[in-house]
Amino acid sequence: MVIEEVLERVISRDPGQKEFHQAVKEVLESIEPVLQKRPEYIKAKILDRIVEPERQILFRVPWMDDNGEIHVNRGMRIEFNSAIGPYKGGLRFHPSVYPGIIKFLGFEQIFKNALTGLPIGGGKGGSDFDPKGKSDDEVMRFCQSFMSELFRHIGENTDVPAGDIGVGGREIGFMFGQYKRLTNRFDSVLTGKGINWGGSLVRPEATGYGTVYFAQEMLKTKGDSFEGKKVAISGSGNVAQYAAQKAMEFGAKVVSFSDSAGTIYIPDGLTLDGWNFVMDLKNNKRGRINECTDKMPCEYWAGQRPWKIDCDIALPCATQNELNGDEAKMLIDNGVIAVAEGANMPSTPDAADMFVDNGVLFGPGKAANAGGVATSGLEMCQNHVGMAWSFEEVDKHLHNIMINIHKNALKASQDYGAPGNYIVGANIAGFVKVADTMLDHGLI
Ligand code: NDP
Repeated sequence: MVIEEVLERVISRDPGQKEFHQAVKEVLESIEPVLQKRPEYIKAKILDRIVEPERQILFRVPWMDDNGEIHVNRGMRIEFNSAIGPYKGGLRFHPSVYPGIIKFLGFEQIFKNALTGLPIGGGKGGSDFDPKGKSDDEVMRFCQSFMSELFRHIGENTDVPAGDIGVGGREIGFMFGQYKRLTNRFDSVLTGKGINWGGSLVRPEATGYGTVYFAQEMLKTKGDSFEGKKVAISGSGNVAQYAAQKAMEFGAKVVSFSDSAGTIYIPDGLTLDGWNFVMDLKNNKRGRINECTDKMPCEYWAGQRPWKIDCDIALPCATQNELNGDEAKMLIDNGVIAVAEGANMPSTPDAADMFVDNGVLFGPGKAANAGGVATSGLEMCQNHVGMAWSFEEVDKHLHNIMINIHKNALKASQDYGAPGNYIVGANIAGFVKVADTMLDHGLI
């Protein structure tokens, strides 16, 4: 009853924000058993408070292209919840960005960050700017203009953005340079920084590696592993690239990558040479995934996603709602045993329900892809003490964090009567920590 009322208020307040409604619905429905045990959350209106961002910043981003033409994009930062630490979450540059997407991502980030065990709150930001097809100079001018407004809202103890779709090392560099010029400070105000100027080893790898570590923990509960498994991956950006590398290291055969134009199917499995080619193609040449057909034995499926592939493990690592109920059914019919979400909310609600109902090990994004933000937290930690840890040390922390997230999500699922349902477990474990802290802080 309370849940339906809150959801109705969320929808009527911002009727067009469908991705945000989807994320709120999933979280609220799965915490119902907690509300029965803890009526004080209802009395303190924790649900109404947690679905409303603490602060939303919208701003104009004017910039000039290489031909001297002026463009105006929209920038935004949603500072959602700072109960357990400074707002933390990435910036997304993609033409689809609008407040409904950034709010869904910021809302998810609250619970994900709580799950990491680190003192970080939830936020997200971005712009409808499309870096694709732009020159480095154009991207730099855009990033400088974007930071010329954002800098006054962020800070190492206030709000610490990072990358997301369309924001990688290049963009973080341009934004950090502008932040430093405007403030005359060398702060830990962004994560995903270059290794020469305060970045952490393993941060580029962290989300993909973490997703595979989480999947490995789920497989272990069935006495299984990645060894010899066929793994279908969507996307070919940062998360997909390193999920593929770690899955291969664990003895799996990676049989696909994709981008927004189509999928490559690699029946014999990706080789190390093939992986290096994709890294160069996507990170340096900024090319399309179909260019792989000249370089490795693979088929290109224009306009299609990888989910019809007969695989044991699926790792959706591209974007939200990229795996629907029909595709979930195909994966289940083909015998998939585990799905771990490298992307945020890539499975539609019906797809996620089908995986859970059919006994597929299903790791939702807020647990499975939390390794990225966790390692951003480790980057902040290194910056605060003025140290740089080795690759092995950071990777060991990341691995332990993912093991703990799995353990806590599994335990919460068991404690609240849904054993093995990681959606319920992750939402409850994250929610309780934030809700208890909000009670501690009083009505603010
Ligand atoms: P990148 O920009 O590096 O890569 C994104 C990939 O997804 C590209 O292959 C891109 O293809 C594809 N893609 C983007 N939009 C669409 C679309 N509408 N349809 C099909 N494919 C699409 O981003 P990341 O790898 O960093 O992020 C991927 C996902 O992981 C996102 O959901 C992000 O929120 C999530 N995530 C990322 C973290 C990180 O540390 N980077 C941390 C936690 C989650 P194309 O090049 O054609 O656009």
